[in-house]
Amino acid sequence: MKALTVVRSVADLRRAVAEHRSAGRTIGLVPTMGALHEGHVSLVQGALDRGDVPVASIFVNPTQFGPNEDFGAYPRDEAGDFAKLEAAGCRIAYAPVVEEMYPGPQLTTITVAGLTDHLCGPFRPGHFQGVATVVCKLLMMAMPDRGYFGEKDYQQLQVLKRMARDLNMPIEIVGMPTVREPDGLAMSSRNRYLAPSERKTALALYRGLNAVADAVRDGRASCSPVAERAAQALLEAGFDTVEYLTVVDAESLAPLDRVRGPARVAAAARLGRTRLIDNIAV
Ligand code: AMP
Repeated sequence: MKALTVVRSVADLRRAVAEHRSAGRTIGLVPTMGALHEGHVSLVQGALDRGDVPVASIFVNPTQFGPNEDFGAYPRDEAGDFAKLEAAGCRIAYAPVVEEMYPGPQLTTITVAGLTDHLCGPFRPGHFQGVATVVCKLLMMAMPDRGYFGEKDYQQLQVLKRMARDLNMPIEIVGMPTVREPDGLAMSSRNRYLAPSERKTALALYRGLNAVADAVRDGRASCSPVAERAAQALLEAGFDTVEYLTVVDAESLAPLDRVRGPARVAAAARLGRTRLIDNIAV
């Protein structure tokens, strides 16, 4: 197992990356908020599979949390994260403190319009601006050849792909498939908030998405009544609220009435204090 180098400053990150670059290697950045699980590990593996030196960042970014969200409670396990990264073959972990990422007020922000009007956008005002800005900063700090992101956060992935394209970033944004628990629940750092009974209920989310995808796939059924029934079923299964359960165009994320091309069914729902999101291809 090759050793993991932990760096905490931009200068040390750039030095560590430069060493690999001067040896002719390409770099793959895996941005995370820590509390790592197999979903994150699959992104490191994605970088290795493409021949990149994997560099992971661990930073719980305050600017992407709303005032009533779980920033303070977000799970943190740095030692465990470093062990998982090293075992996965990651070579550099960048774990900065907030002051290193935001030494002063961040007057420059990135807004990706349109794509953030749908799905999580209206429920988390400012969230995608926080994400796009911090990912842009991380990309500028590490200057990787590729950035690896999970389809689990499908809207985030589309936003970041668009940001890289619109700003002519010489960086490929790679989307990786969602890693699931054996019963189908999408892995998430927030799953550790779930009580055992909620953990059972949570499975209804993936089931619901599959039911909707099956019903609308051939384009004959109108999407919204099918999605509304599935949302109702989530409430009956024990979810407290369903923020949205929608069939959207796979690229523009605009809601669809009928499926005619690549589409995605996506949902966000609350179970106790936990907000779960998931999506699948139609
Ligand atoms: P997070 O630490 O939750 O901000 O996630 C960091 C990265 O890991 C993001 O690109 C996520 O989309 C990705 N990710 C999170 N959960 C999964 C999963 N179950 N499968 C694949 N990728 C994931």
